[in-house]
Amino acid sequence: MVSFDLEISELQRQVERRIEGQLQQIDRITDHNQWKVIHCFQQRKVSDFHFAGSTGYAYNDRGREVLDEVYADVFGAEAALVRPHFASGTHTISTALFGVLRPGDELLYITGKPYDTLHKVIGEPGDGTGSLRDFGIGYRETALTDEGGVDWAAVEKSITSATKVIGIQRSRGYDWRSSFCVAEIADMVTRVKELKEDVIVFVDNCYGEFTEEREPTEVGVDLMAGSLIKNPGGGIAETGGYICGKEQYVQLAAYRLTAPGIGGEVGAMLGTTRGIYQGLYMAPTIVGQAIKGSTFAAAMFAESGFVTKPAWNEARTDLIQAVKFSSAEHLIAFVQGIQRAAAVDSHVVPEPWDMPGYEHPVIMAAGTFIQGGSLELSADAPIREPYIGYMQGGLTYSHVKYGVLMALQTMKDRKLL
Ligand SMILES: *Cc1c(COP(=O)(O)O)cnc(C)c1O
Repeated sequence: MVSFDLEISELQRQVERRIEGQLQQIDRITDHNQWKVIHCFQQRKVSDFHFAGSTGYAYNDRGREVLDEVYADVFGAEAALVRPHFASGTHTISTALFGVLRPGDELLYITGKPYDTLHKVIGEPGDGTGSLRDFGIGYRETALTDEGGVDWAAVEKSITSATKVIGIQRSRGYDWRSSFCVAEIADMVTRVKELKEDVIVFVDNCYGEFTEEREPTEVGVDLMAGSLIKNPGGGIAETGGYICGKEQYVQLAAYRLTAPGIGGEVGAMLGTTRGIYQGLYMAPTIVGQAIKGSTFAAAMFAESGFVTKPAWNEARTDLIQAVKFSSAEHLIAFVQGIQRAAAVDSHVVPEPWDMPGYEHPVIMAAGTFIQGGSLELSADAPIREPYIGYMQGGLTYSHVKYGVLMALQTMKDRKLL
């Protein structure tokens, strides 16, 4: 067993006392969302037989149909499409966008540059990849203001008669900015619709689900997407994504996922249905565990002299905890420490590598049961100034605590603290 320096253990005790009130607030959100999910299961009379898998075309798969209804209810949406056939969050978001956009239309992102993997989905005119712009769909984005808000003057100028979809990314992703809480998204919807009434407001909800009591589709968002290997999968769903929102838009996304005229009426669930249901049932509580972990991490790293975003006592609307370290050595020790605390692959030591598509070497800790599952404790950092490390997830609060302790101990062992 690794033992921790007395100083680190003492810091842990102090921090645990200090964040108690914050943890209670997280519990209240968990309780609200846990009961909301159970209530939705009850309303739709979820039964054991719904968990059976399906094969072939899978017509009339009741488990799949009821799953869509339960998801729609939980997210306060008219309809939902929840499928293991979505290969990732990017695939899910891409399906939603391609579903509703047509050549000549424009997509306008108002929360700055979207998440990295979406850049290729947007693409370049004539890039030959079948990206949005390759299909003649226009793209614009407005940068955030210095204060991190939407630049409304720029948005007003960028909305044209062709603007069909307004894109909003709720989570900071891997950027040193604030995430947008649901109240702020509600305000964005109101203002955007004042500028153009018939525009479709789309939200990339990745990392956001169940961190607050309301979801973006409950405050007027028309279409939303997320990944099942993040929050709503509860650490149990093995793969997949969900799209929810207005029925007509979800239908168009379903046509894009399978084929026009077929949509969500087919699609074998194989053996995934039970895990997706059970994951949704677990999600509010597991998200609460992860958020408690992020809160503890923020307080511990702040006490150790580092700047964190968000701070431990700030309200949260996603899982990501960013920490600004003082050198590449600190970043590496942080990520290696998190890996050392894993139940899976703790014996491997992550090293920085030149990941395809990134300009700087990247180091990642991911000792997970589901490959790349980031509701599980994981950490990543591009090795570049200003040396920001990102961590997220944790299926149990205790595990996250040990991850943080191990990160600090690793720094201490290397005389970095
Ligand atoms: C994770 C994430 C994505 C993409 O999901 P992948 O599963 O990695 O493809 C998109 N947007 C945000 C904000 C994310 O956090």
